[in-house]
Amino acid sequence: MGSLPTEVDVVVIGAGVCGASIGYQLARNSELRVAVVDARPPVGGISGRTFGQIRQHYSNELLVRMALRGFHCLRNWTAEVGYGDPGYVRFGYMLIVTADQIDGLRRNVELGRSLGVDTRVVGPDEIAAIEPLVNAAGLAGGAYEPDGGYIDVTKMVLSWLGAATAHGARVLTPLGVQEILTAGGAVTGVATDGGEIRAPIVVVATGAWAPDLLDPIGVHLPIERRRLDMVTLEQEPGARALHLCITDGNSNLVIRPDMGRRILAVAYPREMPEVDDPLADAPAQAHHEHSVRLNKALAERLPALTVAGTVSTTSGAYDITPDYHPILGWAEEVSDVAGLYLAVGLSGHGLKLSPCIGEIAAAHVLGVEQVAGAPPIDAGPLRPSRFADGDLMHLTYGPSARA
Ligand SMILES: Cc1cc2nc3c(=O)[nH]c(=O)nc-3n(C[C@H](O)[C@H](O)[C@H](O)COP(=O)(O)OP(=O)(O)OC[C@H]3O[C@@H](n4cnc5c(N)ncnc54)[C@H](O)[C@@H]3O)c2cc1C
Repeated sequence: MGSLPTEVDVVVIGAGVCGASIGYQLARNSELRVAVVDARPPVGGISGRTFGQIRQHYSNELLVRMALRGFHCLRNWTAEVGYGDPGYVRFGYMLIVTADQIDGLRRNVELGRSLGVDTRVVGPDEIAAIEPLVNAAGLAGGAYEPDGGYIDVTKMVLSWLGAATAHGARVLTPLGVQEILTAGGAVTGVATDGGEIRAPIVVVATGAWAPDLLDPIGVHLPIERRRLDMVTLEQEPGARALHLCITDGNSNLVIRPDMGRRILAVAYPREMPEVDDPLADAPAQAHHEHSVRLNKALAERLPALTVAGTVSTTSGAYDITPDYHPILGWAEEVSDVAGLYLAVGLSGHGLKLSPCIGEIAAAHVLGVEQVAGAPPIDAGPLRPSRFADGDLMHLTYGPSARA
């Protein structure tokens, strides 16, 4: 890690997808002295627990634009970042629904198409033709994105951090921030395990840990930490492989192929349990309940996969806001603290949005309309004050998509 700087222009706290992307964009687009600090090694937070799935299907124009831009960056990584690789694997993505959700799905597909997303509505026969493992009985249709798939989040974060370093940023891990320092209503730096770093701007990208640093300085955000349990399955040798990333809006199953014969799956509960420790594993009983939910969903939608064996289970917390959308903006909107930028509450969408979040946050911090190469995107609807204003983002789907 090297010696600690005593003073920089911007400290970014967090080296998950959010902090790494912001740190990269700040370093690339300015001469500012930027330090990215994390208590854990990079990807040691929730980004290291992610499902890795990417899609562009959303209900709000802003989110579609952000996912579309994120996807463009992932596919054009060399031109956009020029360092490393995000490990994008193209399998195709489909959100499948029953009759009660088909109108919303059609609207979202139209919205996506109007903004340039390669997506279309498919009927039950085409769903079964695209992925023969799916039992399409009872389905009204699906939203298909041939370019959907998954990425390798470790590769992506390390690539951003490598590129940020190449542009002059310091990446300081593991280095815990004990406190955000303020004086006279403005940020003055951070107190870390290794000493103070003075800075007039601090970016908080600490995901599910955000309230721990923000509450003590009077910045209170409506973020809940809620645990999601996930399982890795392995198909029998010779079994027909899954070739599509799927979200089932009815059974709340989310499933995707992984390496070799492996498959990742989540069967969302109606309500995810609140937790204190974002990285705490679920109790055995919760894994059991997840397995029961999963088997029920598989039996209904992907019956051939009910015989796949369980390789491992894992858990991680979402940082959920009241409307399941991120918070992007200056803390001064909701508190008396100047110089504090918030990029938190990603609510389970962080991976696919993170390339664009880095661009938006860097533009806000640098006080410019947009950073080099980024499209103009007005992220005003994600401002921290929207909760107090009662101006929440709109959702079409329940637990498995929250879009
Ligand atoms: C099981 C699961 C599956 C998911 N699947 C998907 C998916 O398929 N697609 C998708 O788009 N999104 C998905 N998500 C959501 C996505 O993973 C998150 O939104 C994203 O990873 C959050 O990134 P982050 O950088 O905000 O937070 P994190 O990755 O948690 O990074 C925050 C960092 O801040 C650091 N930190 C905290 N406090 C301090 C401190 N005091 N001092 C120093 N450092 C500190 C932590 O160590 C951590 O590394 C999933 C989430 C979960 C839990």
